[in-house]
Amino acid sequence: MGLRRSGKSSIQKVVFHKMSPNETLFLESTNKICREDVSNSSFVSFQIWDFPGQIDFFDPTFDYEMIFRGTGALIFVIDSQDDYVEALSRLHLTVTRAYKVNPDINFEVFIHKVDGLSDDHKIEKQRDIHKRANDDLADAGLERIHLSFYLTSIYDHSIFEAFSKVVQKLIPQLPTLENLLNIFISNSGIEKAFLFDVVSKIYIATDSSPVDMQTYELCCDMIDVVIDISCIYGLTGDEAGTPYDKESMAIIHLNNTTVMYLKEVTKFLALVCFLREESFERKGLIDYNFHCFKKAIEEVFDVRLKVQRSRKLLSQR
Ligand code: GDP
Repeated sequence: MGLRRSGKSSIQKVVFHKMSPNETLFLESTNKICREDVSNSSFVSFQIWDFPGQIDFFDPTFDYEMIFRGTGALIFVIDSQDDYVEALSRLHLTVTRAYKVNPDINFEVFIHKVDGLSDDHKIEKQRDIHKRANDDLADAGLERIHLSFYLTSIYDHSIFEAFSKVVQKLIPQLPTLENLLNIFISNSGIEKAFLFDVVSKIYIATDSSPVDMQTYELCCDMIDVVIDISCIYGLTGDEAGTPYDKESMAIIHLNNTTVMYLKEVTKFLALVCFLREESFERKGLIDYNFHCFKKAIEEVFDVRLKVQRSRKLLSQR
């Protein structure tokens, strides 16, 4: 949600439809509630509701209770290049309403369009917005509502990074995924590994070493390269062909003795990792470990398997 022209549709188009940021200049403003399912093309099966700025909570035809009841995360977009007094009062109204209906919603505030701001200015804005929003909540006696803030722009990778964090909070298996990645990298001499949703370039998990933006950007670029090359040269012309399948994998040697390795994990997920050239000499070991990792990931997400197991356990009792 967010005021009109804050950038909601642009974010959705750039993250989920590969639209280039410049094209968003010509997007029409959102003036009705749009709902979109991301579940068919992406690992993360979720819906995005794009709300126009001026939602009237008192309008009886708008059933916000029904919407908020099933909501996992509410992203509120604030245009940082504009005066944000009105946006903050909207944020307050929205958050308090939504919290009443469903206290389990994660409230995520995107301080958006920060591309025009200097680093100092960005921090200053974030501090100011953070303080005002929390003061408003405190004044209303609602300190227990937690808001998370992100500085975002569609002109760099910050919007993907922020979306990744939002989505990760909604994945109950996250600790298991992180643990599997930690085991995988420490046994394979790998420095950093990400599990990516290929379509959106959201990373749904990474190992526990810190993420730096440059590494993340390189991964996004690698996914683009792989998919683009595959689209141009990999498709055989039959309709069912997709640029990403079981055979998808790529190795890129950078000129600083680092190797990037991408491999298909599931229909929607890819593992992208960074390692030293000398570690890559033991590619056999890495591939064996990858095979085990992939099997584990399949088990984590195989709901059928889980149901069968729990049935078996129950019948043994
Ligand atoms: P909506 O009404 O909230 O859906 O807003 P739109 O997505 O239509 O965006 C309004 C305008 O903001 C468009 O002209 C976009 O090009 C622009 N915009 C969106 N995101 C960014 C951003 O990160 N940086 C800058 N500078 N402009 C942006």
